[in-house]
Parts: sequence; C-alpha cells; structure tokens
Amino acid sequence: MTTCDVAIVGAGPYGLSAAAHLGTVKGLDVRVFGEPMSFWEHHMPVGMILRSAWTATHIADPNRSLTLEAYQEACGNHLSAPVPLDRFIQYGLWYQRLAVPDVDQRKVARIESGPAGFRVILADGDVIRSRRVVVAVGIGSFAWRPPEFEGLPPSLASHTSEHRDLSQFAGQQLVVIGAGQSALESAALLHEGGAEVEVVARSRRIHWLQGWASTMLHYRLGSFTKRLLYAPTDVGPAGISQLMARPDLLRRLPRQLQDRLWKRSVRPAGSRWLEKRLQNVPIQLGRSIVSVVPVRGRVKIRLDDGSERTVHHVLLGTGYRVDISMYEFFASELVQSIRRFNGYPWLREGLETSVTGLHILGAPAAWSFGPLMQFVSGTHYASRSLTRCIAEAGTRRL
Ligand SMILES: Cc1cc2nc3c(=O)[nH]c(=O)nc-3n(C[C@H](O)[C@H](O)[C@H](O)COP(=O)(O)OP(=O)(O)OC[C@H]3O[C@@H](n4cnc5c(N)ncnc54)[C@H](O)[C@@H]3O)c2cc1C
Repeated sequence: MTTCDVAIVGAGPYGLSAAAHLGTVKGLDVRVFGEPMSFWEHHMPVGMILRSAWTATHIADPNRSLTLEAYQEACGNHLSAPVPLDRFIQYGLWYQRLAVPDVDQRKVARIESGPAGFRVILADGDVIRSRRVVVAVGIGSFAWRPPEFEGLPPSLASHTSEHRDLSQFAGQQLVVIGAGQSALESAALLHEGGAEVEVVARSRRIHWLQGWASTMLHYRLGSFTKRLLYAPTDVGPAGISQLMARPDLLRRLPRQLQDRLWKRSVRPAGSRWLEKRLQNVPIQLGRSIVSVVPVRGRVKIRLDDGSERTVHHVLLGTGYRVDISMYEFFASELVQSIRRFNGYPWLREGLETSVTGLHILGAPAAWSFGPLMQFVSGTHYASRSLTRCIAEAGTRRL
C-alpha cells in the first residue's frame, strides 16, 4: 500500500494551486489525483468566454510567477481580455506542467477514514494511505435540474454542464431555462450556431454586469478609485468587492449579513458583451414553467401565462447547488461526520472540515469563506490558508 502525507483529489485550478503551494513545505509528500483542467475541457461549451476579469483569472502560485502574462510570454500566445475558454485551458495545462508535473490522472473512487488519517481508493483499486486529504473536485456533481424536468430523457432535456459542443443543436428549436451567465451564453452560442432558441427565466429582469454605474466607476473615476472600490479578485459590486477579497474579515460578520452580501455578490447575471449577441433571441422573463410533457420525440412546455411551445430540446442553465453528500467517493460514515449547513461543509482555518485532516476547497468552501471560493481568484486565499495550516501542523500525527 502506498502512503503519503497529503492526497489532493482534483486537478483543476484549486487542486493544482494547492499542490504548487504545498510543494514549498519541506519534507511533505504530496500526491495529486485527477485529470488536469477536465471540468473546463469537457463541461463548458466551445466558444465560451470567461466572465472573470483578467486580474481574477490567474491561478495562484507561491512565487506569483505563473500568471497569464507569464504564460503569454512563455508561449508567444497573445491573450486578450475577456479570456477565451480554450486559452484558459491551455494556460491551466501550462501551469500544471510547470508547477505540478507529477499529477496521477486516475480517478478517486472512495475516501474513507483510516487508522492514522484516510484511505484513498482509486478507480483501478489501488489504495493510498494518507494523513490528510484535500478535496478539490469542483461543482460537477452539483448540477441542478428543476424537478419538472425529472423523468425526461437526456435527448429532450439536459443541463448545460453536459455539453461541450452546442453545434449539435444546429437547425433545432430549443428553450434555454435561466438568466445567469451560463444560460445566456449558451443561448448566444446556440443562436450563432444556427439553432432557433428562446430563453425562459423566472427573474423579472436580466442583471447585466459592467452596467453604466460600474463602467463609470471603472473608466471615468480613474485607477485610484477603481482600486479602492474593486479588489483584483473581482467578486462582488463596488466596495463589497474589497470585503469579499478578505475571507478572514468576512467570516467575522454576523451570519445574516454574510448571507446578504453573498447573495448580492453572485446573483445570476450576464456579461455586458452578451447583450448584443442576444438581440435577436426572444427572452421571456418573470415566467415559470407549469408543465413539461414529452410529445412524439419533442417536449411541450407550458408557461404560467398559458403560452405553450413544443421544441426539440430544453437546455437547463439552472446552475449548481452545493451538497457535499453528492460526492460519490465519500464513504457514508465519513460524510455523516462532517459538520454541514445546507449541503455546505463548515470549515475552519486551512479550509479544514470538522473531521481533522480533511480539507475541502473550491465552491463548497463558500459558506465558510464567502463567494470568492466559487472562482479561480479564490485560489490565492485557499492555497495560502491550507499551506499555513498544514505547515504549522508539521508532520505530527493527526
Ligand atoms: C460555465 C461556467 C463558467 C465559469 N466561468 C468562470 C470564470 O469565468 N471565472 C472563474 O473564476 N470561474 C468560473 N467558473 C467557476 C469555475 O468552475 C471555478 O472557478 C473553478 O473551476 C474552480 O476550480 P476547482 O479546481 O474547484 O474545480 P474544477 O475546475 O471543476 O476542477 C475539479 C477537478 O477535479 C477532478 N475530479 C473530479 N472528480 C474526481 C475524482 N473522483 N477523482 C479525481 N479527480 C476528480 C476533475 O478532473 C477536475 O480536474 C465557471 C463555471 C462554469 C460552470
């Protein structure tokens, strides 16, 4: 049986960044499992453009040397903001080759408590004994489908995360549900790819990011004001952005206030550059779905205004709902012993769960450390906090 000090499960931005930082701790044997950048490669649509700003799109590394600028320089690839998906994936793989060359691409099938830490069982049956485990597997398991669509076959309704290539829908009629970035960008890509698409959303209006107020603050009031109001991590509106960039401070606020600020910072919204691309796409706002019925290979949808449409496919841009019990690899006794709130783990410093030695990074950490954890820019805080915690604990037994 192989042993190590820390097993990192997941090789996306959080797992890679954690591994790069832990690599600076002397004598620590760290293993990383998972296919690098695979969520971005297989579960986001070709042609997508990142919503995050340039300053918020670097994967943190301990020397601050693996930035997008460094990638551009090293590879001669010119990057423009906003960053296209394919370029971000290439950047992530470049980062991995330089900072974490020894990723073991096998999947983790099960994590259970062991005598002095954990047993990590790989998909091929190999067992690793590790004193600590860092779970950084992202949001793929949390794709949320409204109950109305349960029971429909995947040919009639699917979640946006199930598609890489939306051109398969060319010439077809689709309804896209949702008013967030993923729904709106998918609708734009479908429209541009030759599908006949309509967007249906419950919200009464679309919140466009970079509206006139923020544009004014960004461009008219100068770089000093901009820096004052917006942190480079780029999560949250003017002023609140600075607080979101400081999870240690945010954590001290009353819970209710934290929740209000969280809601205000990451409500469903679309990038301003999508508005023009959706000019010729019909959008029904303030509407909910009353019934969904399969009809001869198509799907008939009735809205609460009594209108009906029969389409080839419904694409659910309905986002993700964190519930760590959905991570299939957790042994049930282990997940039961993690203190949780609404599916989120309660985490202390070092993003450590109530089970000593078990850390969870990325979106599930948002309940404890704020919405920054849902974005690549949160890797700066998460990796440093994790590394500090593990370095301080040293090699003592758990
Ligand atoms: C459509 C869309 C657009 C987005 N755009 C942005 C954006 O512009 N900017 C931004 O900051 N964020 C964006 N996000 C959020 C983004 O998903 C996160 O910021 C980022 O992926 C978090 O990184 P992660 O490492 O936590 O997870 P992921 O990137 O999902 O990485 C998880 C890794 O875990 C691995 N893994 C999963 N299960 C196992 C297992 N059992 N065993 C081993 N390995 C496993 C996978 O192979 C994967 O590599 C977007 C999300 C979506 C859905």
